[in-house]
Amino acid sequence: MPIRAAVRGAWPLLAVLLVTAVFHVHSVAAQLSNTHAVVKNWDVDSAQWIITAAPDASTVPKSRLPKRVAIIGAGPGGSSFAYQYSHLADLPADAQIDLFEAKNRVGGRVASEELVVPVLGDRTNVSLGTHDWGASIFVKENRNLVQWAAKFNLSSSKQGSSEADLGDLLVWNGTTISFAFDPSSVDGKTRAAWRYTTSPMATSREANAAAAALGKIYDDDHPAYTSIGDLARQLNLSPYLTVTAESYLRTGSRWYFVNDAFRREMVDGVTRANYGHSIDEVHALAALVGFVDGPVYSIDSGNQRIFEALIKNSKANVHLGTRITHIDFDETTSTYSLTTSTGAHKTGYDAVVLALPLDVYSSLHLPEGVHITAQPREYHHIHVTMVVGALHPDRGFTSTTANVFTLRTTPHIASIGRLHDLSSVAPGLGLFKVFSTVPLDDPTPSSQEITNLGYLFNRVDHIWRRQWYAYPIMVPTAPGAKDEEVYPEIVLHDAAPAHTVAGGLFYLNGMERLLSTMETQTIAATNLVRLLKQRAAYAAVAAAAGGSASVWKAAEAA
Ligand SMILES: Cc1cc2nc3c(=O)[nH]c(=O)nc-3n(C[C@H](O)[C@H](O)[C@H](O)COP(=O)(O)OP(=O)(O)OC[C@H]3O[C@@H](n4cnc5c(N)ncnc54)[C@H](O)[C@@H]3O)c2cc1C
Repeated sequence: MPIRAAVRGAWPLLAVLLVTAVFHVHSVAAQLSNTHAVVKNWDVDSAQWIITAAPDASTVPKSRLPKRVAIIGAGPGGSSFAYQYSHLADLPADAQIDLFEAKNRVGGRVASEELVVPVLGDRTNVSLGTHDWGASIFVKENRNLVQWAAKFNLSSSKQGSSEADLGDLLVWNGTTISFAFDPSSVDGKTRAAWRYTTSPMATSREANAAAAALGKIYDDDHPAYTSIGDLARQLNLSPYLTVTAESYLRTGSRWYFVNDAFRREMVDGVTRANYGHSIDEVHALAALVGFVDGPVYSIDSGNQRIFEALIKNSKANVHLGTRITHIDFDETTSTYSLTTSTGAHKTGYDAVVLALPLDVYSSLHLPEGVHITAQPREYHHIHVTMVVGALHPDRGFTSTTANVFTLRTTPHIASIGRLHDLSSVAPGLGLFKVFSTVPLDDPTPSSQEITNLGYLFNRVDHIWRRQWYAYPIMVPTAPGAKDEEVYPEIVLHDAAPAHTVAGGLFYLNGMERLLSTMETQTIAATNLVRLLKQRAAYAAVAAAAGGSASVWKAAEAA
């Protein structure tokens, strides 16, 4: 049987056809229990819900769920899939879940580390606490993360309230400060209100509306989606995805007004800090997520702990330090096999979940004929530099500077933030995190190069560095662009029709083009669990109708 290349939206259409085919066989339909539940599938062409009588996916026949599952990648997507799939009530008792991770740790782009500075004042080996190199914040709307943090007793702190966060917020063009204020003082609030008028309120209002639209995904009865484009339409997110943040906030017939200064200094500043790009480059959703009302949180012991806890509380057998190089499909058994970088073979998987961005890890070989139709998307390459030091007064920085936002004209530096206040050791001393588009050179005193740490800091005690391919550039969708040109498929390869188990090769990271966050990757995992349940229910119907192959063929032919 030829391997069917992934086709966006194939599953809902196929599902509808399958149900039609199955329900023509009245005698078979009559034998089935739970066949009259209503299933909603989004029809791409007619842009409407297709309501069908269909098997009830809430009571899935155990034998139809994939029993042997391989997950590749132990970041937020892979670890949360492992946890959620493990806890499916219908999971067969003998299910086997194998999780493969190339690195020797769990977390992916969530990497928490205790930073110990060798010498600080008259002390040695001083711990500055645990800090995040990658994903560092989440909000209360991130229901999965909030719920798991509570479940696993991981304490979290509000950002913006610690000593390190309290201080001046500066807007910097690379040489001079265009605006500085202390957001926690009455004077600072008054000056910000004078400069930005009602713009912060208006932007938050828009951001809350976007968050509310996205929040519908948590509804228990939210149907599984098979394409990110479908999801965007289901949630009415298109208005946020088809224009740049700049034009979204500048135009339209809305009642409010976001003034130039707020757009340029705050919305651009936050977006450059969050996603390394300016608001004339990214879609509105990417910018608005930075302005949802309410505090932002991080796990005190490091965000990585959430994903470690998920894996620990799952049924997954974890293989750290194991890079998968090839995925193959065996047509005779309708199962997948994996090859590791050491040449070991793992065989017999009903389903494989790819929980990594293929744009970055492009050397992974997919089964013959399987490819992603959407154009690859560039991932933003950023450098994170942690510095124990004091910001340079010659650049306009003060000893009370806690955050530096940059303008789109500021070269190379995206943002600077203080993580730890060490002013008790020396005035202005702190642990600072700098995001830049190029590596920052070791400090040369009186350097005039912005990429030299001696330009940014007049005292440097210690430096740590890391770099990431951090997130896809979340550009707006071009008018008239087809889903398959924009978003990678979720179902990359279907193990059916020869197979009666709801197996296949699935991809979680298309979601990142809509929004790249820890939470949205856990949502992609939730969706895949829902999708597998739905597919298992259909597989059961197909089998009961006299053998899957004939029913699937009939469905395809119809
Ligand atoms: C600097 C930075 C700041 C960020 N800030 C935030 C933030 O504040 N809040 C937020 O919510 N999000 C933030 N993000 C985004 C967030 O980290 C990502 O959206 C999220 O980690 C994506 O999760 P994932 O599981 O899909 O992929 P990843 O986290 O990338 O995990 C993929 C895993 O797959 C593994 N892998 C790759 N290839 C193979 C292979 N062949 N075999 C086996 N394993 C393999 C990798 O080693 C990796 O561990 C930030 C990201 C970065 C880099």
